[in-house]
Amino acid sequence: MYFLTYRYNNKMESGVLSRDRKYVIPFSNIFDSLDAKCPTNMIEFISISDDNLIDSIKRIISSDNVDKILGKSVVICAPIPKPKRNIFCIGKNYQDHVNELKDKTISDSNLPNEPVYFTKSPNCVIANEDYIENHSHITQHLDYEVELAVIIGKKGINISKADAYDYIFGYTIGNDITARNIQKGRNQWFKGKSLDTFCPMGPYIIHKSEIPFPVELDLSCNINGDIRQSSNTSHMIFDISYIISDLSQGIELNPGDIILTGTPSGVGFGFTPPKYLKSKDVVECYIEGIGTLVNIVK
Ligand code: MG
Repeated sequence: MYFLTYRYNNKMESGVLSRDRKYVIPFSNIFDSLDAKCPTNMIEFISISDDNLIDSIKRIISSDNVDKILGKSVVICAPIPKPKRNIFCIGKNYQDHVNELKDKTISDSNLPNEPVYFTKSPNCVIANEDYIENHSHITQHLDYEVELAVIIGKKGINISKADAYDYIFGYTIGNDITARNIQKGRNQWFKGKSLDTFCPMGPYIIHKSEIPFPVELDLSCNINGDIRQSSNTSHMIFDISYIISDLSQGIELNPGDIILTGTPSGVGFGFTPPKYLKSKDVVECYIEGIGTLVNIVK
């Protein structure tokens, strides 16, 4: 099941795609047929969702007996347009990406012994087909990073690796846009990773029940049709269970929290000379089973 947030008749709502993915079924219609109170946004939906609710929604979608909206008539928003807090990110989580950073002075080329965490501001999330601002007055070194985003499904702290799967709601696609000169010029990555529009996300959240675990999905990034990144999530140095367990030691995770799990090689910065993004570039991030996140550089 593909969950989404969208605008329809000037109102932001959330819902789920029909099985043929041509229609959107608003949560309001689903919860009407369940005779239950409708959550007001995606985070609230994730907070109340459990196996029973997911099964009920699957039944409603299959029955085809619910009012729906033609997909073409909605404007897709980021699935979680306003995360409640910063987006957790993992740096250096694919070996080939660590290798390409060698001699680039952003970090050393050693494989990390523990996950390298940083965060992005929740204010930089944008939707599929939104423009990425080029911020050309402060950077000429705009870069892309396709990443699998894990959406946390329930509250938890000190989670074991064995239990990590229970805390996942689903997955979406993230693009960890980076101003390399700002990332490199400061001792902390936050600003270079958090300029406005620097976190394209979506278009949908796929529920975890649709993806075999551990997650082994092809992911790629094309710029104007030119393949730059191509790998598989099975190549992560620290897998999803490890990350959720490690991050949650001493930090409570909450429904709707987002974790970007790192990027494989092929970022613009890794080429000699570098291939940075420029105005009008079309950036397509693909993850098998989830879809394609498309954005244009303004
Ligand atoms: Mg990244």
